[in-house]
Amino acid sequence: EDFDIRRLTEEVFDQFENKAEKKKLDMSFEPGIPDEVIVHGDWKRINQVMTNLISNAVKYSGEKSKVRVNFIPEGEFVEIVVSDTGEGIPEKDVKRIFERFYRVDKSRSREKGGTGLGLAIVKHIMEGHNTKVDVRSTVGKGSEFRFKLKAGEEHHALDEV
Ligand code: ATP
Ligand code: MG
Repeated sequence: EDFDIRRLTEEVFDQFENKAEKKKLDMSFEPGIPDEVIVHGDWKRINQVMTNLISNAVKYSGEKSKVRVNFIPEGEFVEIVVSDTGEGIPEKDVKRIFERFYRVDKSRSREKGGTGLGLAIVKHIMEGHNTKVDVRSTVGKGSEFRFKLKAGEEHHALDEV
């Protein structure tokens, strides 16, 4: 199924509006992305991926942090980048965050609530789409999660115009 991932992301942003307002987060798209970004995939599952990634960006970022989503066309694929200027993840933990129930700094995470399943679900869904998630993170600076999806048919049509 082909769908507009820009619209999907807008819907997810809306779900976090209250939390974002409370923390005075600056949540938006990178400038310059087109009105529509058509990709191929399972809408429901990709919605779950976006929800989990944006939930984390909101949860693990302090007041006035930035949360951004960007879409980068790469031939037959579109790369999706979810980034935040939040607390970041220590290097020794980065490779483990996709494990079920793994949470960085248990005491701090406990206050924030959650089960440690969000990213395990993301990894599982990405495998079902024959793709994976890459993470880059720096403690005190923020985190960036990237994954690729196949571009949809309409997307190709636009490229040819
Ligand atoms: P759940 O998603 O089940 O509510 P959770 O958020 O703790 O719980 P995951 O989404 O799997 O679980 O994330 C695992 C851990 O990775 C988190 O507990 C947190 O320590 C760390 N983490 C994930 N995303 C970020 C982020 N954007 N910034 C900083 N730390 C993060
Ligand atoms: Mg989570």
